[in-house]
Amino acid sequence: MRKALGRFASGVTIVTTAESESEDNVHGMTANAFTSVSLDPPLVLVSISTRARMDTKIAETGRYGVSILAGDQEPLSLHFAGGTQQPDLVRFVWRTGVPLLEGALVHLACTVIDSHPAGDHTLHVGRVDQLWYDDGRPLVFYTGSFRALELQGRDDGWGF
Ligand code: FAD
Repeated sequence: MRKALGRFASGVTIVTTAESESEDNVHGMTANAFTSVSLDPPLVLVSISTRARMDTKIAETGRYGVSILAGDQEPLSLHFAGGTQQPDLVRFVWRTGVPLLEGALVHLACTVIDSHPAGDHTLHVGRVDQLWYDDGRPLVFYTGSFRALELQGRDDGWGF
């Protein structure tokens, strides 16, 4: 499964949640099992391992943030995956009471509307309450490695 599905290139996100608007209560983790689900209403989902602390945290708070990482944020993705710790790089901004990572390309503040058990993961479907985005290059994950995105042709791909 890992070798086959690792050939589906993805971006990298940090999923965050907090019981209250205080930095002491924030919990974050790296996730690439993130997808857009619906435009109207605006829904996304994250697939979280039942072994991750995040799974229980989201069930408790009923809200989560998704920060889609920029190309220079690989150290943060390692930090929030339990790898090399870089606490000095971690800075949160708050949107509608949800913590998000400073410097990310996109911020989504979500309220959980459904959580589906799915094997050893839980699919947490979130309604997007507020979003924000910036231009820039994303961090890319492919075959278990972090990559940079290389543009082919013209950089105006919104015509579909
Ligand atoms: P922990 O392992 O306890 O914490 C995660 C890390 O975040 C720790 O290093 C901790 O120091 C740091 N941290 C947490 N809160 C804060 C805070 N407030 N301030 C500073 N640091 C903090 N797992 C999935 O379930 N789904 C996925 O889609 C997924 N995708 C992944 C994609 C990539 C590219 C990688 C590298 C890993 C992915 N993982 C995924 C694995 C997941 O990131 C790890 O298993 C993670 O350790 C699980 O986090 P946890 O909730 O158990 O918390």
